[in-house]
Amino acid sequence: GNELRAQAIASIACRPKVAVTAPGRLEDLWAKDVFGLSKMQECLPKSVFKSVQKTITTGAPLDVSVADVVAVAMKDWATSKGALYYSHMFYPLTNATAEKHDGFISVQSDGSVISEFSGKVLVQGEPDGSSFPNGGIRSTFEARGYTAWDVTSPAFVMETENGVTLCIPTVFVSWTGEALDKKTPLLRSNAAMSKAATRVLKLLGHSEVAPVNSSCGAEQEYFLVDASFANIRPDLLLAGRTLFGKAPAKGQQFDDHYFGAIPERVQIFMQDVEEKLYRLGIPAKTRHNEVAPGQFEIAPFFEAANVASDHQQLIMTVLRNTAKKHGFLCLLHEKPFAGINGSGKHVNWSVGNATQGNLLDPGDTPHSNAQFLVFCGAVIRGVHKYGPLMRAVIASASNDHRLGANEAPPAIISIYLGSQLQDVFDQIASGEVTGSQSKGDMDLGVPTLPVFPKDAGDRNRTSPFAFTGNRFEFRAVGSGQSVSGPLVAMNTILADSLDWMADQLEAKLGSGVELNVAIHDILRDVIRDHGAVVFNGNGYSTEWHEMAVNERGLLNLRTTADALPVLREQYIEDLFAKENVLTPVELGSRFEAYSEQYIQHIEVEAKLVLSMAKTIIYPAAVRYLGELAKTIDSLDEIGIEFDKDSVVKVAELTKAMMASVGELSDMLTKHFMSVEEHMQFCAQTIRPLMDQVREYADALEGEVADDLWPLPTYQEMLFIK
Ligand code: ADP
Ligand code: MG
Repeated sequence: GNELRAQAIASIACRPKVAVTAPGRLEDLWAKDVFGLSKMQECLPKSVFKSVQKTITTGAPLDVSVADVVAVAMKDWATSKGALYYSHMFYPLTNATAEKHDGFISVQSDGSVISEFSGKVLVQGEPDGSSFPNGGIRSTFEARGYTAWDVTSPAFVMETENGVTLCIPTVFVSWTGEALDKKTPLLRSNAAMSKAATRVLKLLGHSEVAPVNSSCGAEQEYFLVDASFANIRPDLLLAGRTLFGKAPAKGQQFDDHYFGAIPERVQIFMQDVEEKLYRLGIPAKTRHNEVAPGQFEIAPFFEAANVASDHQQLIMTVLRNTAKKHGFLCLLHEKPFAGINGSGKHVNWSVGNATQGNLLDPGDTPHSNAQFLVFCGAVIRGVHKYGPLMRAVIASASNDHRLGANEAPPAIISIYLGSQLQDVFDQIASGEVTGSQSKGDMDLGVPTLPVFPKDAGDRNRTSPFAFTGNRFEFRAVGSGQSVSGPLVAMNTILADSLDWMADQLEAKLGSGVELNVAIHDILRDVIRDHGAVVFNGNGYSTEWHEMAVNERGLLNLRTTADALPVLREQYIEDLFAKENVLTPVELGSRFEAYSEQYIQHIEVEAKLVLSMAKTIIYPAAVRYLGELAKTIDSLDEIGIEFDKDSVVKVAELTKAMMASVGELSDMLTKHFMSVEEHMQFCAQTIRPLMDQVREYADALEGEVADDLWPLPTYQEMLFIK
């Protein structure tokens, strides 16, 4: 083979094994590196602990004098674990986690140095965030933004290249109070949802209603590629996906051998990841049910959405860093390999509280079933009204390779309920309450509401948003995306629908309608007006795509260029403003930041396509052409006629590839009147031209002598472990 590739394969063959250690005991590892409630209870005075606990459970602001005491205890704990630095971690409008490291050191007026970390530093840090995207809210010459500890998410220590660091999860806001991050709106959306849910629960007759919280359990898919291969593929290193590469002869569908066992190297990696996550108090549960070769999944148990979201960011960081240590590159890209299954993130979401439990759980009593139908109906209404928003919050250049392409879930947002729950809503809609299809039904005890099936039953993998027994599962989220955006959208649309439900209930009950009748009538209206979003069939089928758009009026927003402008719609602005989740300025800044990221992402990839085609693939093709031409000449000299077809084919493919390269290169110099126009150009012109270059290059890969081909092949990257 080619020299670089040969070296890469050789280095994998003789790679020293990472030492295997016996798995640590969960009890010894669990949350060892977290300054959580139990740790605080140990080391804080009782009154201070009570105050922090109150902040965590009720969202009451943290008193500064309390913060000082907490800061000292936190610092002592962190230094006892070897920390010399602390870092405010925040979540800018990218999918990244940002950190600002500072020493615990403070210089006194007499020049001496002491170790210091006060409450003020804990709740308010000032990072130089000027280089983070903020969509124009805060120009770099203005005052900086500041970070403040989100007390509901515990601090922890983590070993990094700089040694041990105390990490403090924070919000990131401008001095004028505008959210510059992904955490602030998540906290606000949860508060809005809690307020609206409380209204509804009170109207349903509960006298005691604890604050309602959203929960999230995110299943994370990822690929592992050996670092020796990745290091000689600029596309994997810079774009996180292969921009070139011919599908292997042995596709994922034939590879039953692979499914048998996880390679030992990967197992050792997984154990290492799990132990790191346990120490951070992240309830990881590794799964080995990969779909494609080289693909794996990790899913933690669900937690409060805000904590789950921080933990999700940490999981992505730990996966990437641990992979490096084990000689892998961890790919969180949604589509690293063309023609091979991509990676998603299934965001499981529910809402509940301490007094009523999971509000999306059908439950065991007629009353809780009626309550469940109200919350489920609210979700249906929200997803129908704001489906395009759900599509917009998962829009990214990389996720476009899954959504709207031939790989599901489709870009049309619909809800899967399952046939039994569908039957319940059908009965409500028709007004003919008869019974249900299944055995083990439960009587709601009220003639106006149907008999309720106990089990939600079958599963449908083709729906972007599915009810799965006691939660909804948003399956269209991309593997590399932050879960915050989707959670903000779900919480906010639910808040809006619950507020609407509460208004309806208040009006009906006020005019003397009985509660169960009122619930029935409201649900009937919801199904009549919003039932179009419910679809239990095959979401991949072309019939659905046509029916959804033509008969049901749902939008099929295929690309990010189509989806992001939704954020500019008046009804979306009104939704976020009404629920106090994002001001119009904050929303506008998100549109700006995300559309800029989309354009940059595609243009960077396009430039990489150009340089790889010109400097890596073209030279290989030309060398091969030279070899062929020389051979034909020499054969000619001794009178042997040789078939010229292959040389003609390689020459033509090479010419065609370079013609596409020229075309793509020209298109990258265009200027645009608006970012919408620029995004559409990226989606409709740049992306197809990139694909066209690739098509010729991949065809060349099938013609050029293997020992001249410079890039590790799909076969090598996906099957050598
Ligand atoms: P599947 O692969 O069948 O979709 P998994 O068991 O892999 O299901 O993942 C389910 C995820 O959903 C886990 O993270 C789990 O903790 C989470 N989950 C379970 N119940 C809830 C709930 N009520 N709210 C939010 N997430 C939940
Ligand atoms: Mg799932």
